[in-house]
This record gives sequence, C-alpha cells and structure tokens, in this order.
Amino acid sequence: MRLEALNYLACPSCGGELGLRLEAARQEKEHVMAGILVCAGCHAEFSVRDGVPILMSAGVENVKIETAARFAEEWTRWSDLRGYYEQEFFDWIAPVTGDDFQGQTVFEGGCGKGRHTAIVAGHGAKAVVSLDLGESAFVAFAHTRDLPNAHVVIGDLLHPPVKPIFDMAFSVGVLHHLPDPAAGFRSLASRVRNGGRVLFWVYGYEGNEWIPRFINPIRTAVTSKLPAGLLRVLCLVPSVFLWAVIKLFYRPGADGKGPKHLPYGDYFAAMHSYPFDEVHANVFDQLVTPVAYYLKEEEVRPWLASGFKDKLLRSQRGYSWTGSANVDRH
Ligand SMILES: [Zn+2]
Repeated sequence: MRLEALNYLACPSCGGELGLRLEAARQEKEHVMAGILVCAGCHAEFSVRDGVPILMSAGVENVKIETAARFAEEWTRWSDLRGYYEQEFFDWIAPVTGDDFQGQTVFEGGCGKGRHTAIVAGHGAKAVVSLDLGESAFVAFAHTRDLPNAHVVIGDLLHPPVKPIFDMAFSVGVLHHLPDPAAGFRSLASRVRNGGRVLFWVYGYEGNEWIPRFINPIRTAVTSKLPAGLLRVLCLVPSVFLWAVIKLFYRPGADGKGPKHLPYGDYFAAMHSYPFDEVHANVFDQLVTPVAYYLKEEEVRPWLASGFKDKLLRSQRGYSWTGSANVDRH
C-alpha cells in the first residue's frame, strides 16, 4: 500500500478518513507492508498485511467470503497476466477504450488477480483503486506493486472502503457472483462522482440458457463443494474436449468472427488462439463458484433506470451484458 492510497480510501463502516499509525508501520520502499489504519470518525482500526489494507466492516456474509476463497484458488494457480487479456477486456467494455482511462481516477469492484487493474493502470489512469474480498488481492498486489498508480485493497463491494469521488468505476465478471448483483451495481455506482462513468460486464441468461438448467445443479450440489485441487484435475476431461472442439470448429474468419451456425460462435472463435490452460481455467471458473447468476436483460436494464444518463446496455457476443452510464444525481 502506498500512502497515496489514503487519498481514495475511507472507513467501510462510517466513511471517515483513514490515517496510518506511523509507529506501528513497516515500510518497504514506497509500500507500507504492515501497519494499522485508524478511522478518524469511528476510531475503528484496520490492519495492513503483506502490503494490502484489509478494510472489512463486521458481518460480511459467509457466502461472499466463500466465493472469493474459491476464486482465490484459481488466481493463485493461473496467476500470470497474459497479452490477450487486454483485447478481451476492451471487447467486454467497448465502446470504452484505453484512452478513456487516461488521467482518470478509477475504482474497480472485484479485481481477482489484478489483470484489469494492470491494464487500466497501464493506460494512464491517474489512480486505480482495486477491491477484492479474498486472498486473491495479495496476488493482485504482487502483480501491480511496481505500478505507481495501482492500489489494491481487501474489502466488500457492498461496503466499499473508498470515497465517492471516482471519475470511473468498473466491475467485469464479478457482479453475477454476488448474492445480490443489483445491490453490487448500486454500490459500485455510489463511489462515482456526479457526471462520472460506471461500467460493468455480467453473464447473460440469453444465449446461456442451458447453463442454469444443466450446469447450475451440478455446480451448486457437487463441484462448488469439491476441494479445488481435485476439481482442477476433474476439469481436465471436459476442458480437453472443449479445447479440441474449439480448435477444430471455431477458427475465426478474416473478420475475427466465429461460425454463425454453431453455438458461442464469436466467443469460442475468440478463444481459438488461447493456450489449453486458459480453456481449462475457464471451465474451472464455471464450476468452482457457489454463486453464479445468469442475468436476463429485463433484470439488468432496471439497474440503469434512474440516476443515470447516456445509458448503454448491449449484448456482448450474444451471451453476456455490457452496461455503462454516466452518474446523474440531479
Ligand atoms: Zn469509521
């Protein structure tokens, strides 16, 4: 944690300013690696561990911590950052581009291993403050500690420990894993200044109807309860099958699009050049989590109903939803 992060952080309980108790702090170059943060409002104390401030208010629901812990297994196992993540990220958030982050203060709700944190920081954000609930935040910190504008914290998106001052906030691939995705979106948007932009990408129900029907029962009853190491091995079998199908039938055309007559044409075509372990990670990702909602347009559209302008909701490749809007509190 850099001291500069305190410009953006706030007490998750009362929103008060946080200060570092200097005499207890241990620093390594520009980072506070261990220490105590004290709230000027309610005097609550929060620790900094291994470079990451832990800003949790009491009473975070167990299911969220469990979900985060399940993904942490993935982020620590498949922990490197890869070149194609950038293309994928900008596909998900289009029409927002890298230039839109230039000079902006950005809040990220749910950062996993920090793959998008690093991209946004690399595109010249003034600061990106990235939140995750679990151990994966330490992986994200390791990936981004040399980026002077990246700040990683542990906290709950429903009680975000940041000030409501950000130019932009985004959440990619996270809200559908919360017990209440709509509340997660409201909370994300609440940290954006008036006139700032909020954006998200979530799983769609449309185009994925078979997953809630056939996969969710297996996921909730069996796979989300298996030890992660065992599940990773079991996932090899469907992953090899899927990888072979993608290699054989989903070669993208000259326009980069996939075969129109096959399911997930554009999605799988985009994965055609991925190495096997990325396909494996995607299969594992689908089966590991206790909570995954596949959201219908009629569920997502109301998120933007009031308090926003310049709203955009679009289907991303026919299987997911990308939304963005400017916050309008007048
Ligand atoms: Zn406080």
